[in-house]
Amino acid sequence: PPTEGRPDVLIVGGGIGGLSTAFALAREGLRIRVLERAPEFGEVGAGLQIAPNCTRILDEYGLLDEAKELGVVPESMAMRDALDSSELVRLDLGELERRYGFPYMVIHRSDLHAIFLRACRRAGVDLVTDQTVVDYENTADGARVTLADGRTEEAPLVIAADGLRSVARQKLVGDDVVSSDYVAYRAAVPIEQVRDNGIAEKDVTVYIGPRCHFVQYALRGGEMFNQVAVFQSPKALAGQEDWGTPDELDAAFEGTCETVGKGIPLMWRDRWWQMMDRDPIDTWVHGRIALLGDAAHPPLQYMAQGAIMAIEDGWVLSRHVARLRAEGTDPSAVDWDAALAAYEAVRVEHCRRVLTTARAWGELWHLEGAQRLQRNAIMREIDPAEWAFTDWVYGPTALFPDEEPAMFTPIPLASARVEGNNPAATG
Ligand code: FAD
Repeated sequence: PPTEGRPDVLIVGGGIGGLSTAFALAREGLRIRVLERAPEFGEVGAGLQIAPNCTRILDEYGLLDEAKELGVVPESMAMRDALDSSELVRLDLGELERRYGFPYMVIHRSDLHAIFLRACRRAGVDLVTDQTVVDYENTADGARVTLADGRTEEAPLVIAADGLRSVARQKLVGDDVVSSDYVAYRAAVPIEQVRDNGIAEKDVTVYIGPRCHFVQYALRGGEMFNQVAVFQSPKALAGQEDWGTPDELDAAFEGTCETVGKGIPLMWRDRWWQMMDRDPIDTWVHGRIALLGDAAHPPLQYMAQGAIMAIEDGWVLSRHVARLRAEGTDPSAVDWDAALAAYEAVRVEHCRRVLTTARAWGELWHLEGAQRLQRNAIMREIDPAEWAFTDWVYGPTALFPDEEPAMFTPIPLASARVEGNNPAATG
């Protein structure tokens, strides 16, 4: 049960978005309560890529070392053609770290979730499970949620971090999820099982193929190997209800190169993820109810920025809270309307760009026939040192819409680590 008293902020949903935001706001001295529907806090799924725009925030939270211990910092990210396995482009992740000051890394999603859960506990967040929120309304001085058992809870601010199928989004916006007709299968297996498959243990590898792609990288200090197989479902295209089923998986990857072919039988077949996003929307804040994470901006995962955007949302909101509170006053005396306006002003545009880019990026990956060959020819010409492609997303998260583009001054890796600073911010 929740502890006594009214919190400063109620957060609905204890996924990576809800918990990271709870921690960010608790660090500012606010009393936070998280209401999670599930009987326990946890994450399903396998690996998660976290780019420098996220590891920068983890570092500020004092959580990066723990993440690095549990995860893997790969050497490079390679994109290959899934049919002939030829390399199309390779990004040196050491170079990337040098540019942005923080690593590009991969981590098991339950490990990242657990890092935030432990951090929330240390910060005194009130974490309550078995709480299904069914309704939201604004009140004179905040907002109220109604739970499935009829109870209500109130706070000056309610954050809905309840994911893709958000109840708050349904009530406040009422738009539908958008099906991509693609489905993801995942697997994380002991690395010994795949050593003979022609894998690149030190890389993140993405094999892109006609109407399909396949992602591989090592996890948990290199002991495990993560695989994601994504394909367009013929049943979805035919309008069938039950689509993306395992029988479609093998057919979708027929004719792919040896390494991909050897990976497919290892995919978990008892669970799959139909890939949905939503169209970007302009309004995330409705009075004192704010959408955050997938509830506000669920992406297709091709940019690997979904969880990161959720973490950025919480960080940005917490920075505005810190800014909009007079020194030495009661920490709970926040100008919430101003903080929420500032949050919405900067996050909506950024996340819109990620969502629309992810859709376009996915289309490019899945081309077939002559278009596939044209894409491959163009990709082979990409200069990986042309940072204009990545600065807008991997650079420091903006706090204001009119923020000057950050200057990136390459610095030696060692000093970036030791000083723990952000060279870009001072450059
Ligand atoms: P969720 O994780 O969905 O959490 C919502 C929480 O709210 C859940 O705990 C749920 O139980 C709870 N909840 C829901 N409804 C209620 C209710 N009514 N009452 C109370 N609680 C409720 N992102 C990356 O950054 N990098 C990647 O590499 C990456 N890879 C991905 C690969 C795949 C195949 C997929 C599908 C996604 C990937 N993502 C990636 C995206 C990322 O997983 C999501 O964007 C992220 O997990 C969203 O977090 P969230 O906390 O907003 O939502």
